[in-house]
Amino acid sequence: MKKIVTLIIVCISAFAAAQQKPIPAKGLAMTGKEVKFGPLKFNRHAVGDNDVLIEIMYAGICHSDIHTAKGEWGDIQYPIVPGHEIAGKVTQVGKNVTKFKVGDYAGVGCMVNSCGKCEYCKQGLEQYCLEGNIGTYASVDKYHNNEVTQGGYSDKLVITENFAIKIPPTADMKKVAPLLCAGVTTYSPIKHKEVKAGDVVAVAGFGGLGHMAVQYAVKLGAKVTVFDITEDKRADALKMGAVKFVNVTNPEELKGLDNTYKVIISTIPAKYDLNMYLKMLKLDGDLVILGFPAQENLPSINSGQILFGGTRKISGSLIGGIAETQEMLDYSVANNIYPEVEVIKAEPKVIDQAYQNVIDAKVRYRYVIDMKTLK
Ligand SMILES: [Zn+2]
Ligand SMILES: [Zn+2]
Repeated sequence: MKKIVTLIIVCISAFAAAQQKPIPAKGLAMTGKEVKFGPLKFNRHAVGDNDVLIEIMYAGICHSDIHTAKGEWGDIQYPIVPGHEIAGKVTQVGKNVTKFKVGDYAGVGCMVNSCGKCEYCKQGLEQYCLEGNIGTYASVDKYHNNEVTQGGYSDKLVITENFAIKIPPTADMKKVAPLLCAGVTTYSPIKHKEVKAGDVVAVAGFGGLGHMAVQYAVKLGAKVTVFDITEDKRADALKMGAVKFVNVTNPEELKGLDNTYKVIISTIPAKYDLNMYLKMLKLDGDLVILGFPAQENLPSINSGQILFGGTRKISGSLIGGIAETQEMLDYSVANNIYPEVEVIKAEPKVIDQAYQNVIDAKVRYRYVIDMKTLK
């Protein structure tokens, strides 16, 4: 009898130890600013009681990945596995997990944790956590022994269920990943600025973010103008429901647009004239900045221009909270709002080329890596 009890105890502790073991993972990483992608083996932290293990199916390539991985937003620690547009399947759950069961689809966006206690976390604005949110990659995770987080260009990921988003089983999995960043980043300010039917709004920059902003605003019934510098995006913008396309490189097309818009969403990732857009707002209108160019290309505006802009406002918007991300995802799937994607293989050379194409503005409109093809 004593032997059996001992055996059971040994088995239970072996099981508990197995539960707490780090999870071996593999991914695609950059090991330096100028270095191309290569394979990386690393460990994910063990699946805790409130965690889920996600087998990654698809990971979107966001322009932020490129800025971060190339150190354009400041120094980072290498190797880095980027990727904060993640869609996959839950393969293990901790004992306290209630939101997910094995086999459910789950998504991960730009954050994997926050303090949960500050005034903003309590309001569901975890992205503005006063103690700093933990980014999905290239972030020091103080809740897990200061490990540096690694992103979604990998085969699996462990995350607290609170920061995992439920993906409805009806979702188009190939297209759902970019919603976790590009989707919520544009959905949130459109909702916050109360864009509604008949409003005259604009989207500046028609890329990964911009083409999502247009879809959300059009769905709400707004009259949308698109500003871009690439003439061959004109047809796409009009097809997605924009009423007007303005090629910013053509001065003729810019005439007569001052004092026109209630909201302008700027997703421009390069240097541009902020004051030009400020003047296009109606009084009390909002210019919302979503694009974040490299440090040397940051647009600037002087206080005189703000003064003469009167009550026209400039503000930013950073992704969205977890509850809002869930709301956006459910809304997008229910209304069939998805990014235009090109699915690519999880091979270093393919990712290198995809990065170059994003930099050269050749992508239409989001690359999604099929992580099942990772070797
Ligand atoms: Zn992003
Ligand atoms: Zn907080």
